[in-house]
Amino acid sequence: MSGAREEVGSPEGLWVNLTRERARSGRCVLCGKCASECSSFRLLGNEIYSPRGRMALIEKFLDGSLKPGKKFYSSIMNCLLCGACEKNCPSRVRPRLAVLLVRNAPLFEPHFQRHRQCLTMEMKDGYPALLFEKMGLKVPAEKIPTAQMRGEPCTIPSDSHHVFYFPGCMDDIFFKDSCRAAELLVRKLGYEFCLPSGVVCCGALHLFTGMLGGAQRIAMNNISALNASRNAPILCDCATCAATLRLYPELFPAGSEEEGLARKFAERVFVLTDWLDKAHLHSGMFRSLNGLSVAYDEPCTLRYDMCATSAPRRILSFLQGINLVKFPQDDCSAGLPLLFDAGEESAAAMIQRNKADFLKNNPVDILVTEDSFSRMWWQTNLAGEGRGKIQVMALSELLAQYLT
Ligand code: SF4
Ligand code: SF4
Repeated sequence: MSGAREEVGSPEGLWVNLTRERARSGRCVLCGKCASECSSFRLLGNEIYSPRGRMALIEKFLDGSLKPGKKFYSSIMNCLLCGACEKNCPSRVRPRLAVLLVRNAPLFEPHFQRHRQCLTMEMKDGYPALLFEKMGLKVPAEKIPTAQMRGEPCTIPSDSHHVFYFPGCMDDIFFKDSCRAAELLVRKLGYEFCLPSGVVCCGALHLFTGMLGGAQRIAMNNISALNASRNAPILCDCATCAATLRLYPELFPAGSEEEGLARKFAERVFVLTDWLDKAHLHSGMFRSLNGLSVAYDEPCTLRYDMCATSAPRRILSFLQGINLVKFPQDDCSAGLPLLFDAGEESAAAMIQRNKADFLKNNPVDILVTEDSFSRMWWQTNLAGEGRGKIQVMALSELLAQYLT
């Protein structure tokens, strides 16, 4: 990918072309439909935080008519990357994608410098352990996997009884139980569970920090690692990983060979619970939970990228004896911005604080998520507030515990 730039310099190159081609493929007609969907706009209450406001700033920036300053920076950094705006835009404008690509601009270099240094140093092994440590997440050395330690080669012939599991680096390092739970559930439905070797991080961390070249290399690595698995489904327990894998075609120029490969790959990606639902998981497979209170925190990426919100709710209804506690607001959680950049004033943090405050008055036994980044946020925050008694787990883990 010779044109890709993560060492930033002039605002020319592949990222500018991609931003133009992908995010501005439709022209914003200022209809405002997206504003009502945007939590960042609702919480921060200024047009620069609305999707169309962001697009207006980005257009001016790309045309060279805006000298980027604090306002531009704040607008871009406060996007939750939820993708809600892209679902209802009549002109097919892509504000979220534009925000992701424009983070490759020099303005963001100082902010992401240390993240980028860690990611650049570490990606030969595919696991950003050092970056996690910089984010305050302790990574025991023995837990850091290497590509050689993990999984099997993807040479198993593809047929309807094989599925491939993409663990993502967070799950692989911090939440190995969710991988074991996924395996139990998949096997219970009569499918072969394959944990492939050679796959690395999904690339969300690179995209988030504006390392477009790194994200492209990761995408091609994962696509080749799973190439021999042909058409078998690729399952992710983390909705952000799944959404990032689905975004791969957008990272390459239209009509390129890479885009074609990425498109075929993306069509095979599912969130685990959505696939389980399609594979006919049913209530007879679970025993009763004896009155456990459970809160479910829906990830934005599940709602807007994967459009897979009905499956987890249906599956939760299979668990007899569960008291499902609903959050009063309908806001979903933006996992990655939460863990990376949740200053007190950020929209992502505001949403999450409201949920945490609600749980203070409405205690639950278990909080389930389908996103590794928001799961980590919950674990660190509930523990920090002395409420470590609330168990935080992936929905798959809850299901696996109660399988008959
Ligand atoms: S919905 Fe699309 S066209 Fe309408 S204001 Fe938002 S970005 Fe512009
Ligand atoms: S991705 Fe989400 S937060 Fe960002 S502009 Fe779109 S709706 Fe708003």
